[in-house]
Amino acid sequence: MRAVQLFGPKDLRSVELPDVPPPGLSDVTVRVEAVGVCGSDLHMWETGGIGGRQVTSPLCLGHEFAGTVVEVGKTPMAESGTKLEIGQRVAVDPAIPCGHCENCREGNPTLCPTHVFMGVPPDPGALCERMNVPAENCFVMPDAISPGVGSLLETLGVAIHAVDLGKTAVAHSAVIFGAGPVGLLILSLLRLAGVFPIYVFEPVAERRAKAMELGAADAWPVPDDPAQALQPLLAATRGRGCDIGFEVADAGRSVDLTFAATRSGGRVVLVGIPPLDRTEFGHATPRRKGLTVRFARRMKHTYPRALALAERPGYAAMLQDLVTHQFTLAESPAAFELAASYRDGVIKAVVNPSQ
Ligand SMILES: [Zn+2]
Ligand SMILES: [Zn+2]
Repeated sequence: MRAVQLFGPKDLRSVELPDVPPPGLSDVTVRVEAVGVCGSDLHMWETGGIGGRQVTSPLCLGHEFAGTVVEVGKTPMAESGTKLEIGQRVAVDPAIPCGHCENCREGNPTLCPTHVFMGVPPDPGALCERMNVPAENCFVMPDAISPGVGSLLETLGVAIHAVDLGKTAVAHSAVIFGAGPVGLLILSLLRLAGVFPIYVFEPVAERRAKAMELGAADAWPVPDDPAQALQPLLAATRGRGCDIGFEVADAGRSVDLTFAATRSGGRVVLVGIPPLDRTEFGHATPRRKGLTVRFARRMKHTYPRALALAERPGYAAMLQDLVTHQFTLAESPAAFELAASYRDGVIKAVVNPSQ
């Protein structure tokens, strides 16, 4: 089968791989029809690794994906408890926790230290024509949900988890640093949760426009001078700052800015991942404000909720609009180049390996 593998930094190549074997007892074979290019994929593409895990042999990236079941094992029980059938369309949760460790037993499979995550070294991802995956990682999608939207459910799940960690309440205010796909989805969820006003900081003009379209009260660029950067927000909140801050950028200086933009006693959720696995921030501001800071890691059983949202026509249309660019498998390098460059109004680039 055709596949695209990462050989090293900025080195994606089309390759021919042996076809997948018949699926195991409780697995299914999925024909991959949409793979979203995620910020973490771009990380691996740019540096050849992520969070200390390096690509040491050619690897298929891609953990945000959806497709059609084309073969089933003997007992392919989906997460919902129903048996998967050939022809069903599914979104796939890329994380396979061990199920036995302390974290898994406590209901935090996302923190499982030995879990497999498709598309992060050493485990292969979905930039290929077919994949065998555990049936219980599959979420059946109604026909109305396009493959592109299906691939966005993972991203949406991450956003739902981040919003959960923010412990939002109706009429709380929020500030979001970074209006990429996750930041924009957080914005959409905060709107649904009755959070207002919501302010956004984002350097790319098209993304600021998108944030305004999705209901941000205001969206500003991020000037270099930190004192200046927060001026519009402090003016809008009469110096108080917002109840909740979300850092959804690169965990660089935006961490300091998020702390500064959040009110004393408020909560901050750090979602962004820094390129070099290092984050620095001033100590005094978060200490004096007594901020509660949560680190978000992926998600926590949020797929069913993501799917429920995607089944609402209005929300589905919003998700579809975030898929701004589509590519064939062979065009994967172009998809990565585009997503990394923020050019051409790109929000989400999606690769279709079955085209
Ligand atoms: Zn992702
Ligand atoms: Zn575990």
